[in-house]
Amino acid sequence: MSISFEGRVAIVTGAGNGLGRCHALALARRGARVVVNDLGGARDGSGASSEAALAVVREIEAAGGEALANGANVADYDEVKAMVDAAVARWGRVDILINNAGILRDKSFAKMTLDDFALVIQVHLMGSVNCTKAVWDIMKDQGYGRIVMTSSSSGLYGNFGQANYGAAKTAVVGLMNTLVLEGQKYDIRVNTLAPTAGTRMTEDLIPEELFKLMTPESVTAGLLTLCHEDAPNRFILCCGAGGFASAHIYETEGIYLAPEEQTPENVVARWDELNAAATQRELTAGGQQTEKFLKKAMQHFGIE
Ligand code: NAD
Repeated sequence: MSISFEGRVAIVTGAGNGLGRCHALALARRGARVVVNDLGGARDGSGASSEAALAVVREIEAAGGEALANGANVADYDEVKAMVDAAVARWGRVDILINNAGILRDKSFAKMTLDDFALVIQVHLMGSVNCTKAVWDIMKDQGYGRIVMTSSSSGLYGNFGQANYGAAKTAVVGLMNTLVLEGQKYDIRVNTLAPTAGTRMTEDLIPEELFKLMTPESVTAGLLTLCHEDAPNRFILCCGAGGFASAHIYETEGIYLAPEEQTPENVVARWDELNAAATQRELTAGGQQTEKFLKKAMQHFGIE
């Protein structure tokens, strides 16, 4: 089986460097026409330059591909909308959106300013929201769309000094969960990538010898599986250094306490039972949790 993006139009945000650059090059190599978006700022989000995006476009064109450089700040909806309009004006559609742009403002929560918290949310979460919003109706109307969110192990599991980043990176998983439900009848599939790679974002955190093992290419191989024709839906794919794994949120079956038993002491007494890993399963809509609990309560009260 070979994966092709022939005839597809893709937007990759933050594609001037690191993972986004690698995603854009790979999509173009496999036939996609690509909008290479990048604000061109520093790792902390300061500054801007069109050079990074232009360099990637030149690379794609030199290899015989088609690309469009774009300097929109993903945190600014009007700029994002203009980017999407430019893609449609040139190629008539948008099939793939890779929400990849990101910055870091790391500090322990005690020292983190609220401005640093808000900016990271603005770029990672609202950037993904803005770009998705701007392509959503286009994808709905054409009955086809592939959207990838970029999360992180920081978001899924936490990381010291990254309260802002971790919150934003979990938020995009929440965004995916609902978009999957709203997009499925239009064949819009939404997945999440949780990468780990040697880029400027991680260059001072990982020893040089190991940094070399964590190539962006090893992550891009996974990214392409999330945005092709037969992509899964609602999948969290973790990739790094040639490793590939899936992440899930599971919920246990839990226990039921009748009204007269509903005390914290009784909950604590059955903690092991409510936390029994053997009973856990993945839910695919919030209502399934309510349904599960109500089923037990209805059974207790003899309600059909
Ligand atoms: P990177 O810094 O090399 O690339 C990020 C790119 O996003 C930069 O080119 C930057 O200019 C661009 N960008 C930043 N803010 C932007 C904005 N407002 N609008 C448009 N472009 C903007 O970092 P990377 O490591 O390639 O990270 C790519 C994505 O992967 C990010 O979302 C990051 O959080 C995520 N991620 C990376 C790692 C890793 O190990 N490198 C781990 C987990 C998650």
